[in-house]
Amino acid sequence: MARLNENYLKLPGSYLFAEIAKRVAVFKSENPHADVISLGIGDVTKPLVLSVVEAIRKAADEMGNEKTFRGYGPEQGYDFLAEKIIRHDYNSRGIELSRDEVFISDGAKSDTANFQEIFGQDNTVAVTDPVYPVYVDSNAMAGRLGDYDSSTGKWTNLVYLPCTADNGFVPALPDKKVDIIYLCYPNNPTGTVLTKEQLKVWVDYARENKAVILFDAAYEAYVTEKDIPHSIYEVEGAKDVAVEFRSFSKIAAFTGTRCAYTVVPKSVVAYTQKGEAVSLNKLWNRRQTTKFNGTPYIVQRGAEAVYSEEGQKQIREVISYYMENAKIIRSGIESLGLSVYGGINAPYIWLKTPAGYDSWQFFDKLLKEAFVVGTPGVGFGPSGQGYLRLTAFGSRENTEKAIERIKNLKF
Ligand code: PLP
Repeated sequence: MARLNENYLKLPGSYLFAEIAKRVAVFKSENPHADVISLGIGDVTKPLVLSVVEAIRKAADEMGNEKTFRGYGPEQGYDFLAEKIIRHDYNSRGIELSRDEVFISDGAKSDTANFQEIFGQDNTVAVTDPVYPVYVDSNAMAGRLGDYDSSTGKWTNLVYLPCTADNGFVPALPDKKVDIIYLCYPNNPTGTVLTKEQLKVWVDYARENKAVILFDAAYEAYVTEKDIPHSIYEVEGAKDVAVEFRSFSKIAAFTGTRCAYTVVPKSVVAYTQKGEAVSLNKLWNRRQTTKFNGTPYIVQRGAEAVYSEEGQKQIREVISYYMENAKIIRSGIESLGLSVYGGINAPYIWLKTPAGYDSWQFFDKLLKEAFVVGTPGVGFGPSGQGYLRLTAFGSRENTEKAIERIKNLKF
């Protein structure tokens, strides 16, 4: 008899974006002429830049030629890309990494979801709240989080680190000991960041408690302020306790092309029952070589082109375009007298809903009266209640139109 992993049955039914899609579909069927604009989903709208497209074309030609064809590549990615990553993203900030500390993959979603596999069942996991749902669901599937309580929207064995306007979106250290801590900065969904000093508090905590930080830096390219770290390794001591996830999705329109990487310094360890320290790098390598057959050569050549002079210039233009959208959204929402966060070092704008509206009520009001789709904050965790996320990834025209409509709303 085939038995289920019953942890899957504990997952709350409707995934956030499915519920949003359902409500939008109902609205559109009842209002077929409404011009609905989505500032909800976190996908980009600008295409791959020319340097990337040219590199992909060239690589496709190589793959179609008997002399230059390549089959399976290294599971950890090709050296040509890893070396550029190390030089451009790390050495330039004074961070030293060796080639075998970088693992190229097909996405930060899969890497952040899969990484928990190499930890034991009995770890206590902490997440900031609100949070990118993948960290929570992947640990729930592994049976590490106990049961889901639908009345509170919380897992019984998960430690939530609330991030709200009340604490300036800076998570406080937990009052019980935790072993694995997920941090994401610049943050999805709040668009907020931590300074080096604020991040150091967590690095110090991890060092003192033999914990590991899983740091998601998928949005690092959106950091505009000088004193905000792009990598957790800019913080002293982080290389002993932190794994960092990065992605080409939002920095270079790879959401559909798929390329990311994970940095696992050899000095980061977890412990056996007997207290013996084991390098996570070794185990992640073992995991990847068993379960992953590498990112396509063509895709890695495309990602490599991001680091060329021309490629950098082109992706920077696109990022500036989105950040100009962020500015338009921020100032539009501020002019309504609402509190607004994020949007300065991140493509996400996190707004406090007006008095009398919870997240879903405000979502419905935006949809029905302004024909604009946002993302209800509560969908990212209990502390997201009373907030709504807008994204800067739309076209300029749609962003301006959406904000004009929102400005005409009466609360
Ligand atoms: N991490 C965060 C915080 C994200 O918001 C996203 C995508 O929205 C991802 C990871 C996924 O990245 P990828 O497209 O590389 O799987």
